[in-house]
Amino acid sequence: MPPGRPSDLMAYHRVLAGKLGPQHWWPAETPFEVIVGAILTQNTSWKNVEAAIANLKREKLLSPIAMERVSVRRLERLIRSSGYFRQKAKKLKAFVRFLRLEYGGALKRMFRTPTAELREKLLGVHGIGPETADSILLYAARKEVFVVDAYTKRILSRHGWTEEDVDYEEMRSLVEDNLPRDVSLYNEFHAQFVQVGKNWCRPRDPRCSECPLGPFLEASS
Ligand code: SF4
Repeated sequence: MPPGRPSDLMAYHRVLAGKLGPQHWWPAETPFEVIVGAILTQNTSWKNVEAAIANLKREKLLSPIAMERVSVRRLERLIRSSGYFRQKAKKLKAFVRFLRLEYGGALKRMFRTPTAELREKLLGVHGIGPETADSILLYAARKEVFVVDAYTKRILSRHGWTEEDVDYEEMRSLVEDNLPRDVSLYNEFHAQFVQVGKNWCRPRDPRCSECPLGPFLEASS
């Protein structure tokens, strides 16, 4: 058993659920909006993504067909607030092209693909790395895949579960092996860790004395 491990990650989840309440992720009206958000949020804050999504919604471009038809220039203008907008426009275009070629443009068909196979295919699309692929799988397709991010690594390394430079896949397996396989639970747990990372577990000067996970840290030392 790694140092700092009280029993399993459910203990962390229960404490955070009591402190934070339901997280209601992902903030989107449709699975396609989740996917667009997952691409746009790369290397930027969600606040910057919201403005881009609002533009796309206003211009009625939040559908695979509309997004494939819109010109790259116009798409770039509309998502400018999300940063790296030229690369992200290319990524959005690459995804909708992939969706059309592989699944006739139908997300429902894509979601019926077995999880491991779909994950491999998504990772082959330009601009989709492991975190984006897993966000799509969990939050749009509702598959049992945990989404690892920098917060997950920081929190669990500080609690002795692993090293902060742990490989993505190793971290994902570690979390999945220590939680019941449950889409809603993975959804909540990821969102809870984002809150902990934003509010308490900062890169420097973590506020452990105020953090709900403080008792677990004490148990690990
Ligand atoms: S702030 Fe401290 S107690 Fe909270 S998660 Fe980070 S290391 Fe743990």
